[in-house]
Amino acid sequence: MICVERPTYVEIDLNALRHNFALAAERAGGAGRILAVVKADAYGHGATQVARALRRQGVHWFGTALLEEARELREAGLNDPILVLGGVFPGQEESFAALNLTPCIFDLEAARRLNAAGGASGRSISCHLKIDTGMGRVGFLPEDLPEVLKQLRELEHLHFKGVLSHLALADDPSSSHNEEQMARFHAVLDTLHEYDLHPRHVHIDNSAALYSDLMPECTLVRPGVTLYGGYPSGHFAHLDLQPVMHWRTVVAAIKTLPAGRGVSYGHRFVTERPTRIATLPVGYADGYNRRLTGCGEVLIGGRRAPVVGTVCMDWTMVDVTDLPEVGVGALVTLLGCDGDDCIRAEEWAERIGTINYEVFCQVSKRVPRVYKE
Ligand SMILES: *Cc1c(COP(=O)(O)O)cnc(C)c1O
Repeated sequence: MICVERPTYVEIDLNALRHNFALAAERAGGAGRILAVVKADAYGHGATQVARALRRQGVHWFGTALLEEARELREAGLNDPILVLGGVFPGQEESFAALNLTPCIFDLEAARRLNAAGGASGRSISCHLKIDTGMGRVGFLPEDLPEVLKQLRELEHLHFKGVLSHLALADDPSSSHNEEQMARFHAVLDTLHEYDLHPRHVHIDNSAALYSDLMPECTLVRPGVTLYGGYPSGHFAHLDLQPVMHWRTVVAAIKTLPAGRGVSYGHRFVTERPTRIATLPVGYADGYNRRLTGCGEVLIGGRRAPVVGTVCMDWTMVDVTDLPEVGVGALVTLLGCDGDDCIRAEEWAERIGTINYEVFCQVSKRVPRVYKE
């Protein structure tokens, strides 16, 4: 039996990943300092393949949001330390122990449950203490720390091997809030030392902070988006980051419509001249955002063609009147590079009013990922 995949796929350029990683490692002072954030299936790039590729570059810490994401890496044979940023929900304790995962701890109840699971399984559990120095999300508040540490000290099956915090405004390096958060984090380290706690791992930097002001005490940095070639914000446009994700499809059908014909649901586009419409087998069910209706562009043969009419669940139409050489089967790039031109996630994000992070995460599981060495 011949089994042919659909012609809509995401090409993951592992060379670009390695390029972006090398930049991060250089900045961090060595590959060993990188905790590669591969949550949300490595921002849609495929966590297992990304982790394997980065491992070969010398990474030995990975970060996921969920237990399930960490389990997927373990099942793929990755035995390196994994920090689960999202913490431990009730009922997950035994899995953390069995899979030898390192959770972030930001509430005492979770710590107690985990400690009990550690005792029952006969092995102590490593964790990192999450501090809220100004994100207002998860983490112990610095002012509560003395009381928290007294309680945590009772939990003999938990080993606090790390302490971390997260910056709220790192994408704006000029914000004084970054220094405030760093100062609070310094004070937290002092408090820990007073309690004779000297965690081996200290970390606060995400991508933006990694490429701004590094805190010398940090032993790890946690880049995500820049590994995938995304800019944390416009402040970082000078960095030489290469897009890793290239989303491709082909022209499924072509027709020439006379002037005055409507295209797609609602006839939001009506031809003003005889118009060559190319139909692409991709739609919002694939994560090709419906808000690209009337404002998206694609690359065909290195040249741009505008999206016309409403993006459907499984189809998208583009106007190729000015690209007469384009025929059925022509390769189309929705996101990423073709020839000298690139449609970067930042461009797309601006068109639909979001950030590049969300663009990467939107590409649905229906789109196969293909890995290119
Ligand atoms: C997602 C995340 C990161 C990575 O952030 P980027 O901006 O993608 O580099 C780092 N730390 C934590 C706690 C995160 O949730």
